[in-house]
Amino acid sequence: MNDSLTVALAGNPNSGKTTMFNALTGARQHVGNYPGVTVEKKEGHCEHNSDKLHVVDLPGTYSLTAYSLEEVVARDFLVHERPEVTIDIVDASNLERNLYLALQFLELGIPVVIALNMIDVAKSRGMSIDADKLSELLGVPVVPVVARSSKGKTELMDAALSVAKKQQKQQPFEISYGEDLDSAISEMKALISKAHFLTDTYPARWTALKYLEEDKQILEKGRETDPQVAGKLEKIVERVKHHINTTMDTYPEALIADHRYGYIHAIMKQDILQRDDNSDRMYFSDMIDKVLTNRILGPVIMLLILMGLYQFTFTYSEVPVGWCESLFGWLGGVADVALPDGLLKSLVISGVIDGVGGVMGFVPLIMFMFFGIAILEDTGYLARVAFMLDRVFRIFGLHGSSVMSYIVSGGIAGGCAVPGVMATRTLRSPRERLATLLTAPFMNCGAKLPVMALLIAAFFAKHEAFVMFVLTLLAWAVALMASRLLRSTVITGESTPFVMELPPYRLPTMRGLLIHTWERTWQYIRKAGTVILGISILVWAMMTFPGLSDESVQQFDQQRKAARTAQPEAAQELDAAAEDAELSAAAGELQETLEGIDRKEAETALRNSVAGRVGTFLEGVSSLAGFDWRTNIALVGGFAAKEVIVSTLGTAYSLGEVDPEETGALPDTLAASPGWSPLVALSLIVFVMFYAPCFVVVVCIVREAGSWKWGAFSMVFNTVLAFALAVAVYQLGGLFV
Ligand code: GDP
Ligand code: MG
Repeated sequence: MNDSLTVALAGNPNSGKTTMFNALTGARQHVGNYPGVTVEKKEGHCEHNSDKLHVVDLPGTYSLTAYSLEEVVARDFLVHERPEVTIDIVDASNLERNLYLALQFLELGIPVVIALNMIDVAKSRGMSIDADKLSELLGVPVVPVVARSSKGKTELMDAALSVAKKQQKQQPFEISYGEDLDSAISEMKALISKAHFLTDTYPARWTALKYLEEDKQILEKGRETDPQVAGKLEKIVERVKHHINTTMDTYPEALIADHRYGYIHAIMKQDILQRDDNSDRMYFSDMIDKVLTNRILGPVIMLLILMGLYQFTFTYSEVPVGWCESLFGWLGGVADVALPDGLLKSLVISGVIDGVGGVMGFVPLIMFMFFGIAILEDTGYLARVAFMLDRVFRIFGLHGSSVMSYIVSGGIAGGCAVPGVMATRTLRSPRERLATLLTAPFMNCGAKLPVMALLIAAFFAKHEAFVMFVLTLLAWAVALMASRLLRSTVITGESTPFVMELPPYRLPTMRGLLIHTWERTWQYIRKAGTVILGISILVWAMMTFPGLSDESVQQFDQQRKAARTAQPEAAQELDAAAEDAELSAAAGELQETLEGIDRKEAETALRNSVAGRVGTFLEGVSSLAGFDWRTNIALVGGFAAKEVIVSTLGTAYSLGEVDPEETGALPDTLAASPGWSPLVALSLIVFVMFYAPCFVVVVCIVREAGSWKWGAFSMVFNTVLAFALAVAVYQLGGLFV
């Protein structure tokens, strides 16, 4: 047998688990991940009365369903690792809500001790809690503690150890779920016990409940273990579901949640909680909420705060983003000087340095954004935002918290979908989260702006602000509608029943904020950094190979030679002249001619490249939206990063490399080119807004959604949608113009 006992710390997020964990283990801790997932696992050791204890800080959860990764991880740990005792850290100042999880531990039949934490906060709000009575009602020890000052730690560990060493097993707690469910549960329980169906891991009644809640993980396990019993159970569930649907217009899962809350409510009614004389005085949090979630003031303040976050992220990160750009610009310069002209140089500069630089360039932005979000989250404000917007967003199959992700992605124009997709982590409901992260890239990120600016300058110069405003609205409309579409097709299923809770406001600590920020930023670097290099090189190769045939290289060489021999003196002067020496008129002219030939060569090479051939090949289809091969190549390149669209158009129109920030002659060239019209420009803008997200975002989607499937889906779905919209614009527009 193991000589040390395992103690798991579980509880709602922010109930003080980590604080208690630190109080118990001091410096003897180890941070890692749970196998196969990115959920953090903190472990440590401590001694109590000469007993050696292995302490694990479980992820915070509100429930033990399989809705979120955290819940699955916590639940799996409890049933598979079977800690000798689980300490449920309960926020005493929020007792009723916290007991929801406690009840589920009890139903799971694991050995539990309840730590009534934050007694100090409860006291300051004039609440006193009868721990003995609560212990009596729940049948487990309840120990008041203050994790922050280690008060009650010894008593807690005494209680935990006596539970851990108790010989007889804890009986799973049973509550009534009403007649309909109860009879189904006992029928299922009998079936489960008789077949020993999953009984090694879960109590029979618990499995029955999970079947009724249609818990994905358990359903899958059940089918693997014993398809026959699983089939029978599923049939019973179908029947009950139908019955409950017709009689009560609800579903078992919701009914189960109702009964749990009802049970807790009933416990609370038994004088568990006493409030002092001015018991109906408003608590600090309630007072703030009176203002912050006020019907009229609330949304206004919210908008200001969100704009503030946005400003903070994008304005203050500008300087460090500039440093990053300079660093990679400098590296590019070094490579430019150090390497001989040719493929290797092109690979190192355009493939490696630009690709990695593109990813690392986001790092400061992400740090600032996560810092801002950490403030909103740790203070408790984020929950209010979600609360206020929930009703509107639900119409589109999203969640109130989705707004954060949209805004960060460029909802007000000029964000970035990389942090936007990562910001969906604050959403606890998986379907809404998926819908959010798939639609966030529809916002007008900072990389789309140069493309829009270019096209607007070329074709709608007079109505710039108005066009931008309309495009912003369009982005929101398409994102919301797309989400609605996804939620009724590929991401179907009931919305997760989600208790909209308003945790009390807290003053965050700087240390906590910095740690949160760094953890998330590091995850981005580690995750995005690995795949990006490969894709960046791939896109580079597509735009470089197979290059020009020897024949056409010779042709261009001949043209150059011819230009030189036509003006031998000017050629001589040009060769002798230093970098930016003043040239005579003739030499200047020759230089321009030569550069023109170089640009023509680059254009021809691009057209001949894989990307160019794809572009030409696609012309047949893309002409429906008004795009020619040049635009197509630019769009292929735009998959690397949307800014590339501008520079690639420059090359395709023989203007040489065009800086996205300073488009120079490009708008005029486009406006004067025969294939272009305001309608084509509009169609292209629409396409660029909605087609496949850039690959950094795709990588993030893959990581956040947990499968390549969703990355591939977003590329295909977005491109098809964008193309349909662009064709609609071009074809319908054509009828009117
Ligand atoms: P976790 O999410 O459960 O790990 O919660 P943390 O341990 O990170 O605690 C959340 C916040 O509550 C932190 O700001 C803690 O300092 C604070 N906190 C934890 N325990 C107590 C307590 O007993 N009293 C008070 N006043 N604050 C506490
Ligand atoms: Mg924690």
